[in-house]
Formats: sequence, structure tokens, C-alpha cells
Amino acid sequence: MVSRVTDDYERMAIAGCEAICEPAFWAGFDRASAQGFYDYFRQITEYEPKRAARFGIQHYCWLCINPKEAEDMKLAEEVMDIIPQFLDRPGVLGIGEIGLNKNSRNELRIFEKHVQIAQDHNQLILVHTPHLEDKLKGTRLIVDALKNFPGVDPSRVIIDHVEEHTIDHVLDQGFWAGITLYPESKATPARAIDMFESRQGERIWMNSACDWGVSDPLAVPKTMQTMRKRGWSDAMVRKVAWENPATFMRQSGKFPL
Ligand SMILES: [Zn+2]
Repeated sequence: MVSRVTDDYERMAIAGCEAICEPAFWAGFDRASAQGFYDYFRQITEYEPKRAARFGIQHYCWLCINPKEAEDMKLAEEVMDIIPQFLDRPGVLGIGEIGLNKNSRNELRIFEKHVQIAQDHNQLILVHTPHLEDKLKGTRLIVDALKNFPGVDPSRVIIDHVEEHTIDHVLDQGFWAGITLYPESKATPARAIDMFESRQGERIWMNSACDWGVSDPLAVPKTMQTMRKRGWSDAMVRKVAWENPATFMRQSGKFPL
């Protein structure tokens, strides 16, 4: 969790977190060169696993150039060229978080090139969907692009940051859906639980946003607590908080839990 302090790992361990996965994302500033991404990929595949391990937490990650920086096509191409050399590292689960930020043509082209890398190297895919008013259109564009892409197996793709108006489209097309818990936008615990209940917890995981804004690394354990207060059984809480993400990530062949 490159955007977080070490105390967050300690708090997560105390709250019962055994493993985390961190998508490659924005660094708080636009990087000036592919070399910046090379160092970033080293950071999330070498240093972060060690920092998490000090608290008994297993650290996994996803690699890509995120859509926010993918508007620069030349930079994106250079970054994509260096991704394959990291894919065999033990904690790398796949390609992500790729997707769309402003639904631009360039972002879509780079998204599709990442999907090709995932296909060429038999990798799982983690997809970011845009925020607020761009979300529905962006989610539809992403689902269409994946459906039209030869050989993509929807059960090996998770489309993240779904909300009430996008979750059905994602699940009905056979993809996994991710609900991101975030204090200011995306989903609150109560909204996430409503979505789980209306879809019976099928092929859905939830995650705590841990980024540069006001975000809460303990959002998942807090939501588990709210589920219990709403009368969920321990088995159902365990299914959505643990078994679902583990089932998805085990498809990588690298997630042993
Ligand atoms: Zn995202």
C-alpha cells in the first residue's frame, strides 16, 4: 500500500487481515517516464511484500499503467513493454487496475492492449471503472470491449467499483464484481451490504480503498461488523469477505490461502 503508512498494516493485522492485494495505480502525480514505473513495479513486488510480512500479512499485487496516466500513448506503450518481465514474480496476481477514467479513445486503446498482455500471459484481469456520471457509460464500454475480445473468460475478470446502477450489468454478463468501500464516494458499508443481499453475494468481493484521498484500510472489517449487526450468519460474512476473493484470486495459481 504505497500510499499508506506502516501503522495501517499494523491496524489491519490487529483487525484480522491475513492477505491484501494492491492494484497498480496512480502515485499521486503523473510519472515522467517508463523508468518511474519500473521502480514502482519493483516497489510493489519487492518492498511492499516485506513491509506487510512484518505484520504477518501476505501482500499480492496487480501490474499495469493505470487509466489516469494512459492518455499519453507513447508512455503507456513503453510501460506495457516492461510489464511482462515482472509477471512471473510470486506476488503478482495479474493485470490491473486497467480500465477507463474519462472514457477517452486513448484510454480504451490502452485498455485493450493490456487485455492482450493478459491473454498472451494467461493472467487474471482487474478493471477500474470511472467515477460518478461517467461510471455507467464507462462500465458499458468496458463490458462491450471484453465481450468482443477473443478468448476472454469473464470468470477470470473482476470489474471493480460497481455501484447499484452497474452491478447487475457486470454480473449478468458473467464477470466478477468488486464493491469498493470509500468514505466520500463509491460505496458505503450499508450500500455494499444492500447490493450483496440483492445479489445473494454471488461472484462479488468488497475492498477497502487505500489511496491518496480520505480512505479507510479497515473498511472491510468494519463492513463485516455491520453485516453481523444486520443478522448475517458467520458463514455468509466469511463467504463474501474471504471465500469469494480467495476463489477469484486462486485462479492465478499464486494465491495459496
Ligand atoms: Zn480504481
